[in-house]
Amino acid sequence: MLTQIKDLAEKLAPRLIEIRRHIHAHPELSGQEYQTAAYVAGVLSSCGLHVEEAVGKTGVVGELTGKGQDSRRLAIRTDMDALPINEQTNLEFASRKPGVMHACGHDVHTTLGLGTAMILSQLEGGLPGNMRFIFQPAEEIAQGASWMVQDGAMRDVSHIFGVHVFPSIPARSLGIRYGALTAAADDLEIFITGESGHGARPHQAIDAIWIASQVITTLQQALSRTQNPLHPIVLTIGQISGGRAPNIIADQVRMAGTVRSLHPKTHADLPAWIENIVAQVCQTYGAKYTMNYRHGVPSVQNDPTLNQLLEAAAKEAWGGDRVQILEESSLGAEDFSLYLQHAPGTMFRLGVGDRDRPYYPLHHPLFEVDEAAIVTGVVTLAYASWLYWQGQ
Ligand SMILES: [Zn+2]
Ligand SMILES: [Zn+2]
Repeated sequence: MLTQIKDLAEKLAPRLIEIRRHIHAHPELSGQEYQTAAYVAGVLSSCGLHVEEAVGKTGVVGELTGKGQDSRRLAIRTDMDALPINEQTNLEFASRKPGVMHACGHDVHTTLGLGTAMILSQLEGGLPGNMRFIFQPAEEIAQGASWMVQDGAMRDVSHIFGVHVFPSIPARSLGIRYGALTAAADDLEIFITGESGHGARPHQAIDAIWIASQVITTLQQALSRTQNPLHPIVLTIGQISGGRAPNIIADQVRMAGTVRSLHPKTHADLPAWIENIVAQVCQTYGAKYTMNYRHGVPSVQNDPTLNQLLEAAAKEAWGGDRVQILEESSLGAEDFSLYLQHAPGTMFRLGVGDRDRPYYPLHHPLFEVDEAAIVTGVVTLAYASWLYWQGQ
């Protein structure tokens, strides 16, 4: 079966590169993936899949019906949106839209979803069970997955695979992470209200700027002294504003930041822990506060069983030296985690780096991928899917 899948992938490679370049040249921002979605739907239909459009606003779902009795359903999720970045690569298929660029590799992801669907729909004898191909919009604004789930994309799904390109892994290799792949990312906003007064007479006022600085310092120190250092947390206050003049004590400060964590219990406990510190500092110095805490996407926690299956598939297809077991999580975020609230799954990192040239990071205007990664990606996904149906 691996040979059949590899042969199909090699035969399809020129077409897949054409697809990827078409999507790359016509990027669309989060929530506006109309042309991409129509293009994806067209390719899926031509492979004989049952296609549903406008799922999760601009998402697409393709169903490949199995020929056997297995009642499980395996899903593969890819994302389709681009970023508000002005591409500077000078590639012949560079973005035709000024200010919009596929700088996160979602053009490659979409191609991988389509390529895997093409291969699996052509397998002799078909698949024992049903597969769902989920093409989501708006990953970059961490909204698309929740739109897809709300529209039923995870209904009857037993397991799900996801993939993200990674420029620091060389092309033709991939990385598998056991445990947490990405962090939970929450939004934090704190308003501190003191009392205005003359800059020369602090004893007659309540200085909101100084109290805000105490809040930030206490939070950072308490993180290091009261939280388990093996459960990482990053708290970044990225915005702060307050005050009207150099000689007036400020009565209002607004701070906003991002809170990243890997451990689910830490993630659940953080809002109350932060608020307790803010409250204590404010109370000590007589200020009032309000705090808004919004849980963003949770951490991507990969399923160990599906990881083992993926690792076995990748090692058989490419050999052990092309499969990296990733030692570290990332404190980046990925809304793939929202699908994992409905079924176990795993997301792997597909190498797109070039050994001979320096790579540019994701979200960089010079970001490029080595297109050899496309065959690596589709074969890995198709063969792992095949192995999934062989086990119970
Ligand atoms: Zn991105
Ligand atoms: Zn991305």
